[in-house]
Amino acid sequence: MAADPGSETYRQLLTSELARTQASLAALVADGRSVSAARDNSNVDDEHDPEGTTIASELSQMSALAADARSRVDEIYAALARLDAGTYGVCAVCGQAIAQGRLEARPWTPYCIGHSTGG
Ligand SMILES: [Zn+2]
Repeated sequence: MAADPGSETYRQLLTSELARTQASLAALVADGRSVSAARDNSNVDDEHDPEGTTIASELSQMSALAADARSRVDEIYAALARLDAGTYGVCAVCGQAIAQGRLEARPWTPYCIGHSTGG
């Protein structure tokens, strides 16, 4: 069990990261809407107009960033659930304790350094 006395510290880290990620997600969604609106108003042909291609790639970059932010939000909620369940800080693969420094850098991670998928 991970009944470490520092769990409140991690909860705070997770909560502030959650707020930060949700804010950047909201900003991305707002930007995406305004770029879409600009495209709709300019009547450009996405496939043949160079400007349309730029806007399309901008939108796809934004939606990739938004997808990253959404999955980060999911990871943070999952980590908060593990805190509540008392299983926080334990690798989901090998069951070993995750290094404290790693948790401080990536408090949402469910994996130890050896089982990290790069995230
Ligand atoms: Zn592991």
